Amino acid sequence: MHSVPVTADGIAAGLRALGCHAGMAVMVHSSLRAFGTVVGGAAAVCDALSRVCGTVLMPAGSGDCCGLPAPPGLVRPDNAAIVAESWSAFAGALARAQPFHHGLPIDRELGSIPEALRRGFAPQRSAHPLCSMIATGRHAAELIAAQRPDWPLGPLEALEARDGAILLLGVDYTSATGMHLAEQRLGRARFFRYAVHAPGIWGEYPNIPGDSHRFDAIAPHLAPYTREQRIGACRARLTPLRDVLAVADRLIQADPAALLCAAPTCRCSAAAAQRRAAIARAPG
Ligand SMILES: [Zn+2]
Repeated sequence: MHSVPVTADGIAAGLRALGCHAGMAVMVHSSLRAFGTVVGGAAAVCDALSRVCGTVLMPAGSGDCCGLPAPPGLVRPDNAAIVAESWSAFAGALARAQPFHHGLPIDRELGSIPEALRRGFAPQRSAHPLCSMIATGRHAAELIAAQRPDWPLGPLEALEARDGAILLLGVDYTSATGMHLAEQRLGRARFFRYAVHAPGIWGEYPNIPGDSHRFDAIAPHLAPYTREQRIGACRARLTPLRDVLAVADRLIQADPAALLCAAPTCRCSAAAAQRRAAIARAPG
């Protein structure tokens, strides 16, 4: 399938048609390939985003560089972590892991657009070794400062307070990190994970989100709140974060396992068990 090449100007026009504007803060999840051919590549997409949207936030990860298995014997309830087989295996993983620094490349699974933002647009970046985020624009510093080592989704809460939106560029809601905020507020998918802190030193990080591979089941529920536009070959969707959170909250209140799979070996099962435990603890 051939598509007409799109330019930064064409992408900017598409974003404006979608309703993006300079007063707006957006969390962007993206696939460069979804656009077809982009003149100037990932940097052209970042150029359009930074010209049209006042504040641009993206996930940056780094778990592939900094992440570790759980140390042997450290098994928390409903945590679904990969546990190292032995202390020597753990020591090997610790020796191979790279401590976080601001120049680390962005997790490959997040696509090439966040990496282009990191390389070419001097974004602010938070220093969480597993869930770092990057942002440019007017409120970038505020969003990034909202992340703490014990509260990685802080920037999304700050985005919610700014009436921000989720912008999906050629990806679906399985990429929408913001939905984890709704489940964590209900006591679900708050995992403990492990990362190198400094050479030879590791730490345990709480409130790491879980699996999202069934999150696209929210799409029909969000359709009434979502604007959609084709940009080149890319399906672009814009949904206010407050609506995403309200709908996810409603679905999870109705069913602890909403937006999760039923495979007992998946992290989804541990996430649902956490939610059920939270219900059991709740007063009244
Ligand atoms: Zn699952």
